[in-house]
Amino acid sequence: MELKDKNILVVGLAKTGVACARFLAGQGARVVATDMRDETALAAVTTELEGYAIRFVLGRHDAADFLESDLIVVSPGVPQDHPLLVQAKAAGKKIVSEIELASRFITAPLVAITGTNGKTTTTTLAGEIFKANGFATYVGGNIGDPLIDLVESDETVERVVAEISSFQLEWITGFHPAVAALINLSEDHLDRYDTYQEYIAAKLRIFENQTNEDFAVVNADDPLVWEYAQKLKARIVPFSRKRELAEGIFHRDGEIVFRRDGREERFPTKGVRLQGVHNLENIMAALACCLLLGCRPDKSFACVRSFEALHHRMEFVREVKGVGYYEDSKATNVGSVEKALESFDTITLIAGGKDKGGSYTPLVPLIQERVRHLILIGEAADRMQTELGSLTDTRRAATLEEAVWLAAQITEPGGTVLMSPACSSFDMFRDYEERAQRFIAAVKGL
Ligand code: ADP
Repeated sequence: MELKDKNILVVGLAKTGVACARFLAGQGARVVATDMRDETALAAVTTELEGYAIRFVLGRHDAADFLESDLIVVSPGVPQDHPLLVQAKAAGKKIVSEIELASRFITAPLVAITGTNGKTTTTTLAGEIFKANGFATYVGGNIGDPLIDLVESDETVERVVAEISSFQLEWITGFHPAVAALINLSEDHLDRYDTYQEYIAAKLRIFENQTNEDFAVVNADDPLVWEYAQKLKARIVPFSRKRELAEGIFHRDGEIVFRRDGREERFPTKGVRLQGVHNLENIMAALACCLLLGCRPDKSFACVRSFEALHHRMEFVREVKGVGYYEDSKATNVGSVEKALESFDTITLIAGGKDKGGSYTPLVPLIQERVRHLILIGEAADRMQTELGSLTDTRRAATLEEAVWLAAQITEPGGTVLMSPACSSFDMFRDYEERAQRFIAAVKGL
């Protein structure tokens, strides 16, 4: 892909956009970088990019920049139906996402991992397994650093493992992972997509350019994933924790079994540190990706065994007066909260935050069965109260601290207080990490 002297527009100047602008300018492209935030809000960005030949259009977008560019690189935060993108597309302009741009320059085998939940855990684990097998490995994408940073660095790696979100897949044309994994599908991001179907369609694009030389690692227990998997061109490698598979990776009687081409590897799961059925799925997905790309079973499983859960995903905080406190701040949709509720019996659930527009009703059976008290916070509280409030003792709190204090008053010894919000955090907090820290501080203060 020739970049020198090309007119390239970078839309959106968060982490990914900044990395793209720097890379493209370094390659001799004529870069225009635009963002709706103004100079003051983006002062740190313009300072970081000082010395690069980049023209900034801040606080607005100029239609001319879109229409006069040879290439437009769109950040994941910019909606696909932005009017200027629609106009540029209609005018025949080439539009790509950062992963598309980066993948043109990546030569090492690429493992791309997506799904509504479990992406970060699976991606991080797969990266660790490759490293434990001695492969020089880059882990990035939707976690850590963008893929374009690898391209810019000229670092030589033997494997690339990328966490991929639906937003990043929106503007791909040739993005082509050697192994693509789809862990699960449930409703999410309906504040950005008009319909659930559109969100699913974006996710499925991860397989779009694969051929029968490539692998698709898919969840055979997830009815939607399984249905779509039947239509893929890549070789399917299913995983299941519910049934034995003739080919693929599955869990049976305390063992994970990997079966392929007449060979079988077995891994006992006793002593594995990652807990919960959802993590068993993540482990199988990660193992499949790695074993398909040259990892040794013994080294891989030794790595799985010692892998610790990532922070803010159903993490134990403390016990106070016989009540266990857990924070699951990364549970920003209904699918992840379901897994959290399945893990405990008598729950005081703290939920709510910024509403993403999906339905909360899939939680009804688990709330009826396991949630004694429901404490709602944030912008979504009204709608959650309407959809869930009649199922159990439901209360409101103005702040997270008040919710923790209230939970401590009403939860009986032996119970669990769980913050698993089913919403994003941006109504009350900077991000899910700040929400987690505030919960932890409130619990420590009890
Ligand atoms: P993602 O990167 O897709 O958000 P994470 O690994 O960060 O995934 O986990 C996000 C949330 O989803 C956490 O609450 C976690 O407990 C839950 N989770 C992790 N893996 C799964 C899975 N396979 N199925 C459902 N929920 C999961």
